[in-house]
Order: sequence, then C-alpha cells, then structure tokens
Amino acid sequence: MDPEHYRLRDFLTRTAQPYEWHEAGSAEAVAALETRGLTDATLPVVFDGDAVYTGATVETIATAWGGLQPPKHPHYDFAVIGAGPAGLAAAVYAASDGLSTIVCDRDVPGGQASYTAMIENFFGFPDGIGGAELARLAGRQAENFGAELVFLRGVTGSRVNGRDDPVELILGDGAEVTASVVLAATGMDWTRLPLAGVDDLVGHGVYYGAGRSEATQCAGQSVVVVGAGNSAGQAVLNFANATALVTMLVRGDRLSKTMSAYLIERIEAHPLIDVHLETELTDVHASGDSIDAVTFTDSAGKSERRAIDAVFLCIGGRPHTDWCPGEHVLTDPAGYILTGQDILASADGHACWPLDRDPLPLETSRVGLFAAGDVRRGSTKRVAAAVGEGSMVASLVFSRLAELGVTV
Ligand SMILES: Cc1cc2nc3c(=O)[nH]c(=O)nc-3n(C[C@H](O)[C@H](O)[C@H](O)COP(=O)(O)OP(=O)(O)OC[C@H]3O[C@@H](n4cnc5c(N)ncnc54)[C@H](O)[C@@H]3O)c2cc1C
Repeated sequence: MDPEHYRLRDFLTRTAQPYEWHEAGSAEAVAALETRGLTDATLPVVFDGDAVYTGATVETIATAWGGLQPPKHPHYDFAVIGAGPAGLAAAVYAASDGLSTIVCDRDVPGGQASYTAMIENFFGFPDGIGGAELARLAGRQAENFGAELVFLRGVTGSRVNGRDDPVELILGDGAEVTASVVLAATGMDWTRLPLAGVDDLVGHGVYYGAGRSEATQCAGQSVVVVGAGNSAGQAVLNFANATALVTMLVRGDRLSKTMSAYLIERIEAHPLIDVHLETELTDVHASGDSIDAVTFTDSAGKSERRAIDAVFLCIGGRPHTDWCPGEHVLTDPAGYILTGQDILASADGHACWPLDRDPLPLETSRVGLFAAGDVRRGSTKRVAAAVGEGSMVASLVFSRLAELGVTV
C-alpha cells in the first residue's frame, strides 16, 4: 500500500495495460525474482517481456515506453490541453484532417473516463467498453493520424503576444511550444461521496451526474438521486417524467437554499418524486456486482433500506479552470467556461469580445481559444457529449486558421 506502488498500479490500470501484481514475499513474487537472479533487487520490480525495471516508478515505465519524449516540433496548428474524451476526439479529427496537432495531459490519457471500469452507454458498444480501453484506442487512433501525445506533463502557463500571434504554451517539464489555435479540454472532478462500497459500484448502478440520456433508460425503475442543486433537480424531473420512481435525498432542511424555485414547484407537484430532507445516503447494498438497495438515514437517526435500480450522485464538481482569470477567459460563477453565444449573453460579454463577428460555437472569450467537454458551461457531462464537442472543435479550427491566413 505504499503510495508510489499504488500510483504504479493505478497508472497500469488507467493505461489499460494488463498486468499481474504479486506482493513482496508471496510465493509468486519470490519465484519470479529468484528465476531472474533478482532476490536483492530494489522493489517494485516490473517484468515487461524480457525487459526488467528495478525500483520501478511511473516515470521509469513511461520513459521506457517512449511516453516522456519532448515535443517534436516548436510549433503546431492546434494544441489540445487535456487528453480526456473531448481532447482525444479533437486530436483524432484534427490530425485526420491534416492539422499538426499536439495533445498534453498532466496525467495519463483518458481523463475521468479512465477511472470507469465499464462505460455502458457509449454509442456503438452494446456490451460496454472499459474507459481506459476506450482512451487507449482513441490515443492510438490520434497517433496513427499523426497527432503527438505528451502525457504526465500538463500545461502550466502560457504567453500571448498579439491577438493573432501564436500562443506560447509552457509544459510541466519546462518545454515550450506554440500553437495557432488552442483547445481547453481540461475537464472537471466530481465531488466524491466518501461512503464505503460506492467506488466499487460506480458504473454498476452508481453514477456520478445524471445526463438526460439516462432518464429514458430508467423508465419504470426505482432510482435515487442524491443532491440538491439545480442539476440534481433537473435530473429528478427528467427521471420522473420518464416514469421512474424517484427518491431524492437532500442533506439540507429545504430545497430553496440551493435550487431554483421553478424546479422546486415542479418537483413538489410530481407524483413520482419522494423528497427526503435532512437525509443522507448511509449504505449501498449489492447483489452480485450491481447495486440493488440503499439505506438512508435522517437527522433523527431513523434509517430505511429501500430496493432500487440505480443511484445518481449529483453532488457537484469542480471544473479545472483555476487558470481562467489570468487568461481573461469568462466563466460562470461555478467556474465553467462560457463559449459561443453564452459569452455575448453574459454581463461582461460584449465589453470583452473584441471582434466584429460573434464568437464561434465552443470559442471562449479569448479569440482562438476553444473549450469542449465537461469544463464548458452547459456541457452534458458524458463521454459521448465530450467526444462530440471535441470533434466539432476540430472543424472550427479551420475557420480560425482561415481568419489568421494560415493554410494547411
Ligand atoms: C467515475 C466516473 C464514471 C463515469 N461513467 C460514465 C459513463 O458510464 N458514461 C458516460 O457517458 N460518462 C461517464 N462519466 C463522465 C465522463 O467520464 C466525462 O463526462 C468525460 O470524461 C468528460 O470528458 P472531458 O474530456 O471533457 O474531461 P475529463 O475526462 O475530465 O478529462 C480532462 C483531462 O484534462 C486533463 N487536464 C486538466 N488540467 C490540465 C492541464 N493544466 N494540463 C494538461 N492536462 C490537464 C486531466 O488530467 C484530464 O485527463 C463518468 C465519470 C466518472 C468520474
């Protein structure tokens, strides 16, 4: 359970590399080390075919696999920050359309999707696909089209000269590249529910967020929604309107603290919605590898166990946009990036938008900087939506390049 060892296992899992892990001292570990004359080697030892890495770290393995090369070129048509589904899709389509493209991620490729054992609702995969596997395939596809993937090195800063000059991006290792057009696909982190058993059931009846697409799939089922913000309220109504029986668990003593009045009115009037105030989810119960019941407890300590089909955790999240104020990129109060017409509709929008034309869809208030996926205000928070937005940006890049007089 050494943190570095956990990091190594997490890296192998989230890059979809099959592996076996043997604890030091186990019969398998002793035999593997003895066979190779490595009984005194510094652990952990990684055997990868004929190659042996002692005292292995994520960086050792990534370097050995050629993943920590410096960028090959000083300048790219298109730079993508973040290699989650949105960034990888943008890279696949941009590179396949002939743009010189670089994608940088401070972590391994895949973003939030790489934490998901099984994505069951992604277009074209009726039996589901592992999130890490999807990211691995997308990364390979992007590379096949000529995109360059730089991982374990995020973008830590930028320099902008004139509005139409290339943007200079500074990577975590100090390397610098310039790009004519940039995409911020930096995603977000969901607030995790610190409840034992929840993590094991994510994707198996427990979900973070609740897109509209889920509602129809839950018709006639019994679902629980945890949360009291507008997104939770909207999710509850979507489920109930699709004939699901909805139990809503709210920690506070009233919805009006965090939810818009029009949503509250509709929730209160809906016969299929059962709201429990001052109540927390206290246990999840599984049958096989899927959830089949939950226990919730109110502020008086009274608990109830209820059979359910799915739990949706809509307890908020944090977009990766700490950098936006420094770059004069407009966001909503929660930090999600404004794009397209949302910019002009915002209070500061007209004052800060410098061109005669309107912002392109998915363009931010900084001309030539686009945003796609979960980091964008109004995004659907789903893999397919992120992929769709990323691919759309790839074609919008051509409009901006034409404006700059760059021919590809
Ligand atoms: C546990 C879990 C289960 C899910 N299950 C499903 C599901 O079953 N179906 C579904 O459709 N959706 C699911 N989702 C949601 C889905 O994964 C997201 O909507 C999707 O990944 C969003 O993609 P994205 O590219 O916008 O952002 P992200 O996936 O968040 O990727 C953003 C990337 O940007 C990188 N980054 C951030 N800052 C920087 C920086 N400064 N420099 C470089 N890189 C940076 C991050 O490391 C990350 O890799 C799930 C999410 C979670 C957390």
